[in-house]
Amino acid sequence: MSAAAGRTPLEVDVAIVGGGLVGASLAAALAGSPLRVLLVESVPLGAGDQPSFDERTTALGNASRRIFEGLGVWAAIVAEAAAIRVIHVSDAGRFGFARLTAAEQGIEAFGYVAANRRIGAALWERLGAAANLALRVPARVQNVAIAREAVRFEVVAESAAAMAPEPVVARLVVAADGAHSQMRIAAGIGAQLEDYDQVAMVANVASDAPHEGTAYERFTAGGPLALLPLHDGSRAVVWACRPAHAAELLALDAAGFLAQLQERFGWRAGRFVRAARRFSYPLKLMRAAAPVATRTVLIGNAAQALHPVAGQGFNLGLRDAAMLAEVIANASGDPGSPELLERFSAWRAQDRRGVVGFTDSLVKLFGDRRFGVAALRDLGLLLFDLTPPAKGALARVSGGFGGPTPRLARGLPVRRV
Ligand SMILES: Cc1cc2nc3c(=O)[nH]c(=O)nc-3n(C[C@H](O)[C@H](O)[C@H](O)COP(=O)(O)OP(=O)(O)OC[C@H]3O[C@@H](n4cnc5c(N)ncnc54)[C@H](O)[C@@H]3O)c2cc1C
Repeated sequence: MSAAAGRTPLEVDVAIVGGGLVGASLAAALAGSPLRVLLVESVPLGAGDQPSFDERTTALGNASRRIFEGLGVWAAIVAEAAAIRVIHVSDAGRFGFARLTAAEQGIEAFGYVAANRRIGAALWERLGAAANLALRVPARVQNVAIAREAVRFEVVAESAAAMAPEPVVARLVVAADGAHSQMRIAAGIGAQLEDYDQVAMVANVASDAPHEGTAYERFTAGGPLALLPLHDGSRAVVWACRPAHAAELLALDAAGFLAQLQERFGWRAGRFVRAARRFSYPLKLMRAAAPVATRTVLIGNAAQALHPVAGQGFNLGLRDAAMLAEVIANASGDPGSPELLERFSAWRAQDRRGVVGFTDSLVKLFGDRRFGVAALRDLGLLLFDLTPPAKGALARVSGGFGGPTPRLARGLPVRRV
């Protein structure tokens, strides 16, 4: 018999497992709603091993900016974010390149680059103030039993003074626990995995030239290399390379790393002069076999984990969170009913398919070094540079790939009052 047996269960409408970028955003979107919400997160904000709010930076598109404005967290994020006003895309060793400016598109910026830790701090501050949210951190979920009427599980606090597990009954469980989601497994949902045989090396670097809001994407033989502008004038490097090369890069001292970066990227961003600590992330495409199951819904990386080449993973997951909040916060009945989950799933399908397909084909098209393919890429980049409609299309990428747009992303409150 479980240690939690006999205790009165905590009854909630929605239990969110995982309070990283996407789960915390969903909780923030449900803050102040009539729903009773539980958020269980295994690693506290600020801990060295927090996997979502780590040393990375995230490029947020304009739809994400609007969602965060609606959640009341944007002011805290933008205070330490850099605007992307120019995007420069090139193919190493080839002549084609494209340059897009926000001004030409009639927009203020293509997006904003913010530190994951800053986004986490803004979101979690909002969660602490909401009376309808119960937060369990650090804690994990165990003994999950999913039935037609409800999901039952126990929450185990990870604190030193071990307490008896807390029984919970939820009408809906949201898996927001990342690419290796335990909740997805508990719900019996499989996943398709494709290994890109690439590792993303991430580091912040400084150069002797101002970034002027320019984001660079350079496709190289080993994988794409992105340079993003940062608030403090430095740049975030996201360099996808073969695992053996990544291991070499990690082993180099700062000067050796900067020399390799300079050689691979060229001189468009000036001379690289300083590098902060380097981190690495293996890159895989993960797609859950189904977006929903009985009283369970998957969002963010638990549903789809992407290559960072187009900076779309979180932007997509945030739209998942915004749409889920809208569907359940505006429903009068059971938030875990099959009809509601099917509606969420149908409304998100096109955007999810579009972003996953776009990102995957970008990795494959630019990863193919055969001559004909390279020439086609050059042509593509040149045409892209010359034809304004194509540029407009890229500028719209940040808004989503179709299907209904969440109310928050349209500047409206979550609830239709
Ligand atoms: C190098 C790199 C750069 C990227 N850059 C961008 C970018 O510029 N723009 C963009 O849009 N996306 C970017 N992404 C993608 C983005 O980081 C992910 O899409 C995002 O982290 C997904 O958030 P998530 O909350 O779904 O999952 P995660 O970030 O994985 O968070 C999962 C959370 O769940 C918690 N958790 C896990 N298991 C449990 C459990 N059993 N119980 C309780 N809690 C649990 C974890 O501690 C964590 O807090 C990038 C990714 C990489 C690798």
